[in-house]
Amino acid sequence: MRLKNKVSIITGAAQGIGLATALKFAREGAIVIVCDLRQAAVDAAVAQCRELGALADGFALDVTDRTAVDAMVAAVKARHGRIDTLVNNAGITKDARLQKMTIEQFDAVIDVNLRAVFHCAQAVADTMVEQGAGVILNASSVVGIYGNFGQTNYAATKFGVIGFTKTWSRELGPKGVRVNAVAPGFIETPILATIPDKVMEQMRHDVPLRRLGKPEEIANVYAFLASDEASYINGTVIEVAGGLTV
Ligand code: NAD
Repeated sequence: MRLKNKVSIITGAAQGIGLATALKFAREGAIVIVCDLRQAAVDAAVAQCRELGALADGFALDVTDRTAVDAMVAAVKARHGRIDTLVNNAGITKDARLQKMTIEQFDAVIDVNLRAVFHCAQAVADTMVEQGAGVILNASSVVGIYGNFGQTNYAATKFGVIGFTKTWSRELGPKGVRVNAVAPGFIETPILATIPDKVMEQMRHDVPLRRLGKPEEIANVYAFLASDEASYINGTVIEVAGGLTV
């Protein structure tokens, strides 16, 4: 119960790493705030958290909509009185080589993976500073450290959130708020659905552990970073990639 009663907003929590994180936080005693696009998927994730005995609420919204994000944060504060953790997990891909990438593909990924991370963090920052405590966790990627073929837009956002992490850790650290990023390698979730089998096989082979990661293996790291066990970890990026980049 490392996260007992910690009010934790998790974006993109209806599936994949976000859902695994919501369930892990629920098991660790957190009050889980599930945020994702579709109401039915949000309701299903909230129900799973409650089955684990957690207090959980859901918000169906698009994190690129600042008004909706502000309304969610206000509602969470009104109901629970505080916000302890924000996991900026929602993310998308729209891959194409540099010469083929459309402005629409570029903008869509920047909006969700970068601009919305700014929206969500800005929306909770005042509350966390007033509390003198809080944790913001950003979803980066090994692609944000090393780049990747066909991912100009995605790589820029994942590198960008590392910039956010380091900047916010300097700005908010003195006020008691820790900010860190997690850089997963290749994790088995629907986000990999469009990758051809042959490429997936090569990805498995490239990892020294010879397998893809599981969403729960990222959720475990978020839970640790959100907990008081990580009280001196600030402004860092933790790579969770099975040794992919060694
Ligand atoms: P996923 O596609 O399985 O889940 C992403 C979730 O975010 C979905 O439920 C989706 O509905 C939600 N979402 C997307 N746009 C949204 C929006 N505008 N507003 C609210 N919710 C929105 O992805 P995943 O694999 O679980 O990835 C989660 C995060 O981890 C992403 O930021 C991703 O870039 C990052 N990541 C994933 C991997 C991987 O291999 N799976 C590797 C590195 C980093």
